[in-house]
Amino acid sequence: MSDDPRTRLVHAARPPKGSGGRPVNPPLTRLSTVLFDSVGEMQAVRGRRDSERVLSYDARGNPTAFALEDLISELEGGYRTKLFPTGLAAAAQALLSYLRPGDHVLITESVYAPVRRVARELLEPFGIEVGYFAPDGRDLEAHLQANTRLVYTEMPGSLLYELCDLPAIAALCRPRGILLAVDNTWGSAYLYRPLALGADISIMALTKYLGGHGDVVMGSVCTREEVWQPLSRLSDALGITVSPDDAWLVLRGARTLAARLEVHERQALEIARWLQRRPEVGRVYHPALPEHPGHALWRRDFTGSNGLLSFEFAEDDPALAARFIDALRLFGIGASWGGYESLAILAELSGRGALPTTSSCIVRLHIGLDDSASLIADLEQALAVTTAR
Ligand SMILES: *Cc1c(COP(=O)(O)O)cnc(C)c1O
Repeated sequence: MSDDPRTRLVHAARPPKGSGGRPVNPPLTRLSTVLFDSVGEMQAVRGRRDSERVLSYDARGNPTAFALEDLISELEGGYRTKLFPTGLAAAAQALLSYLRPGDHVLITESVYAPVRRVARELLEPFGIEVGYFAPDGRDLEAHLQANTRLVYTEMPGSLLYELCDLPAIAALCRPRGILLAVDNTWGSAYLYRPLALGADISIMALTKYLGGHGDVVMGSVCTREEVWQPLSRLSDALGITVSPDDAWLVLRGARTLAARLEVHERQALEIARWLQRRPEVGRVYHPALPEHPGHALWRRDFTGSNGLLSFEFAEDDPALAARFIDALRLFGIGASWGGYESLAILAELSGRGALPTTSSCIVRLHIGLDDSASLIADLEQALAVTTAR
């Protein structure tokens, strides 16, 4: 297989040559029960299923999901992948798989906000100590404890796209036996490959760019071989699986990831620069802008950027930001991102520390595949409506 990620997206997890006439795509296979020819065969498969991926019952996965797992393992450059019903479930299960009572976990302040709730509602009540570190990683070493078991970061951070030096963090963690997990949703294992930079565990919300069409939720966790077992054992114990229909949708979306990201990237940068020139707009947050504090790390470790950007208004007024979003016509108002459509939200920064801004509200845009000139015209008319006195 080629090392080129675009070629990987096209060729991974396809029906193999040598099987005669075959479909281009892995078939959608629906099942619950799996039938065997004999008791002996069934027992043999059950004997292997804790250590190998075999088809034994749909609670342990189905062939369509296996094909998607293979595609993700190949993109991430990892050993194996587990799929979860949502990105949040993937993050929660990754935490639960590796943490036990008495352990300490360090989470980035810029984490996707619902993960804080997992920490509060599940980890802490079960005796796992939770701490947070600055999104650029500067205070990480000072926060390490004798019982630190896992460092959980997100590259780049949600909403403001802060970056930390992942290889440097890996160098702190590895000799101390601390596992390093990264939420890789932003880079989608296409723009960024944390396992190659020293992480042990990579988590993605496939809901975003891999799915890419606003019609499916799913999450993945891909690991290095040495740390695979705890994740696999817990999800089998809990009966975690995904529907073959949903896996098929994500596989279908993933084939065009590279082509879509090129458009998202180009247009989001164009719009970020346009916003920077507007007098109504304060700071614009996008890691590919040279002014961004994490820009040098982004250039070093990522191969590109996506359709996300955030900005604050020159005048810090949540009512003004809300009026602006309400005035947009081509942007939908809604959570999530990574689909073909453009979205705008008024982002919540309250509840987290280490903020690089004093602004109380941030507008987060996802630039979709609409024509960027139409999107700029829409932003322009909304600014005019919003700031008219
Ligand atoms: C959206 C998102 C998730 C959660 O994914 P869902 O499928 O919506 O549960 C996790 N991490 C990041 C960075 C996200 O943006």
